[in-house]
Amino acid sequence: MYAERLGLLPPYLFIQIDRKVKELREKGVDVINLGVGDPDRPTPAHIIKAMKDALNEPRYHQYPFGAGLKEFRQAVARWYERRFAVKLDPETEVHALIGSKEGLAHLPLAFVNPGDTVLIPEPAYPVYKASTIFAGGKPYFLPLKEENNFLPDFAKVPEKILKKAKLLFLNYPNNPTSACADSNFFHGVVKLAKKYHIIVAHDAAYSEIYFPVPRNLQGSEESEPPLSFLSIPGAKNVGIEFHSLSKTYNMTGWRIGFVVGNKKIIHGLATVKDNFDSGVFSAVQAAAVTALTGLQDCVEEIRRTYRERRDIFVDGLQRLGWSLKKPEATFYVWAKVQKGYTSLQCVEKLLNEAGIICTPGNGMGPSGEGYIRFSLTVEKECLEEALNRLAKVKW
Ligand code: PMP
Repeated sequence: MYAERLGLLPPYLFIQIDRKVKELREKGVDVINLGVGDPDRPTPAHIIKAMKDALNEPRYHQYPFGAGLKEFRQAVARWYERRFAVKLDPETEVHALIGSKEGLAHLPLAFVNPGDTVLIPEPAYPVYKASTIFAGGKPYFLPLKEENNFLPDFAKVPEKILKKAKLLFLNYPNNPTSACADSNFFHGVVKLAKKYHIIVAHDAAYSEIYFPVPRNLQGSEESEPPLSFLSIPGAKNVGIEFHSLSKTYNMTGWRIGFVVGNKKIIHGLATVKDNFDSGVFSAVQAAAVTALTGLQDCVEEIRRTYRERRDIFVDGLQRLGWSLKKPEATFYVWAKVQKGYTSLQCVEKLLNEAGIICTPGNGMGPSGEGYIRFSLTVEKECLEEALNRLAKVKW
């Protein structure tokens, strides 16, 4: 009954995890959910107020066709220039999305012909692979390994694959490894993309969830916030970047993000979208304008919250003998499993013996085997309780 393409994909990992949490809670099990990365705190009050005001605007009740409200696109361009020192033309280089997932999912339909090769990192957010397969493309996976700072090693990709590749997905700060990319890496990507005519789609959904680290002993110099791919000379000729308000402003449920960069690539994606959806609810766009142009104290507060949780949880895990690094960005903790366990065995043991849900690394790609991912999207008291429970698990 189902189309063959549905059979080509595993069940969506995070929906399975969500189902498991609900099932256990219904049975009365006190589970601590560190599985799905969905911010637990509410959207900041001034953004909710802007939405309430916008709901009273009849002009926002109609189809929000096209690239998005002019005010929204201008707010994105201003935000982007302030944050990354990159200028964007709001008319041609900015497009609203129903969450960045939607844009990532539709992109291959605009550029990938059946049989075309798409370069996809793994482990990764599952959408890059799913959207490639739905478009009839052939994924070529780029393993993200710790010894390479979780950056793909393009030197290992055969020349004939690079010649065939149409599209390259990248994601920094990275889900699930929490790694960041430096400008050297992005310079290399621009060079490669130019040489082989590959479209680069950089997913920067976590660009604002970062924790600068001291670069010298006095702590007077800190690491830079994550870079925009488009800040690299030549990047706008080869690529686009996906952004989201979901994590930056605790707005996952609102469904709003945007794509910026090369106008021809954006035009291709816009053509798919024009045929499939009718845009982002204008009242949500109006609230997003308030988010992007208003005081950014709420984003500072969000970063402070995750930093505090990260310090409590990672320090605690390290004290218990777990092997892991402190993430410099994202709200994910990517930990090596205990010796003698696979990712899945480790996840099952944590669930059965500690009531803790986390994500098996291999669920996001084979190179994730040997790791598990914890999300810091619960209050610190919950993380402390998780550590108490973890202390009692015998390995
Ligand atoms: N990219 C990555 C790497 C993600 O982890 C997520 C959500 N977890 C998204 C994109 C999608 O975010 P949204 O659709 O809410 O903008």
